[in-house]
Amino acid sequence: MKKIPFLLAILLCSSTLCAQPPVKITERPIKNIGNINALIVKPLPGKYDLGKIKICLDQKPVTAVNLPPRRNTAGSPIPTISQDGTIPQVGIVQQGLTSATDKMWNPGDIISVYIGTMTTEFVKSKVRQFAKTWEQFANVKFNFINDFKTANVKVGFLYNGQSWSLVGRDALADPGNYTVNFGWFNDTTHDEEFSRVVIHEFGHVLGFLHEHKSPASTLQWNIDKANQYFYDKNGWTAAQVNTQVISKYTQSSTNFSAYDPLSIMHYMIPQELLLTGVASPLNTNLSATDKLYARIWYPFPPTGINAIGEIRTNDDCDRVAFTVQYNVVPANVVEFTLQLGQTGNKKVTWWKQIGIPKPNNAETYIYVQNHSLIASENKTSVTVQIPITDIDFSKGISFWKAKILGVHTLLNYKWNVLPAIRGGCRITLAWNADSCL
Ligand SMILES: [Zn+2]
Repeated sequence: MKKIPFLLAILLCSSTLCAQPPVKITERPIKNIGNINALIVKPLPGKYDLGKIKICLDQKPVTAVNLPPRRNTAGSPIPTISQDGTIPQVGIVQQGLTSATDKMWNPGDIISVYIGTMTTEFVKSKVRQFAKTWEQFANVKFNFINDFKTANVKVGFLYNGQSWSLVGRDALADPGNYTVNFGWFNDTTHDEEFSRVVIHEFGHVLGFLHEHKSPASTLQWNIDKANQYFYDKNGWTAAQVNTQVISKYTQSSTNFSAYDPLSIMHYMIPQELLLTGVASPLNTNLSATDKLYARIWYPFPPTGINAIGEIRTNDDCDRVAFTVQYNVVPANVVEFTLQLGQTGNKKVTWWKQIGIPKPNNAETYIYVQNHSLIASENKTSVTVQIPITDIDFSKGISFWKAKILGVHTLLNYKWNVLPAIRGGCRITLAWNADSCL
């Protein structure tokens, strides 16, 4: 599985072809693979009669969609903040993912899923249960909702013997139609079959493709036997066998890891179809490599190490104590507290301010003071939560204080800590000294 949200077909198709939306499921003929933008699985008749197992069709991806770029830095490690407030110099950390992952969702996404009504409550519960298997290993959540219109992914139950799914965010391309179909589940379907098919199809939902076509595949096919096997099983032509089974995704169009014959996204391949290479069994659950790569492509947010220390602004022997805590407030904000502190019995007074950089070279200011003649303006501790979208994490936090004659003065110091800060952080600053006296 893993790897392989791929876009090669985009490069090859004409603009007319590219403009075609995914077709409705009622229009998906089982063998007319020309305009089906889906990956189709055929049912297993009976409980794993391996002689009759049916398999998937790998289709052209939807290419008419302008998907917003995927955030590939969500899993970057967080630098550790030193006691003096500095952090190790870090460049921009990027995963080894490029445009080939464009169809995947963002790490952390909550994907809303509509489960159609044309089946039993039992089947629906099994689809939900096995889809959520992915959540243990990939940082996504499937949120099952009852609103067809607003759901990102729409699961239908057209009992036509076909199960299929669009790939990744292609599901967003055609909001009027189903994006996944399960074509043969009923109340007698056993768990192993729900596991095999639901996890596989939701693998496509997450942008994963067929493992046996991985560029890293080491399979050497006995072409004649493969052609005969898939003709007997599916009625495929040699050309279809080549497209669906034998040809590999190109390296330039895919992300892939070491080839994994145990992937849930792999066809079952009998040994007699191979000249060299190991047969693939009927995989009904995630392999160890599937789990590993689900984490790599959908990383869970890194957790920073809580830090305490003291900043010196190099102005008047200023000392500002800081604490940074991770994952203690909602993930879409950073909380800042600024306090007038004290050293021993000596309290810090007057007016102090910090400026948190915003996009467009602006700053969000937080100030404390205790010398205003208007009592209500005096506040010695202020806490604000700033949306992460209102913070420019590439810049430093500025410091201000009232100097001689009460003039509000920008200090010549920036606290360049924000690359070590994530949504969910609480930063507490106590201005404990502002004088050398
Ligand atoms: Zn498939």
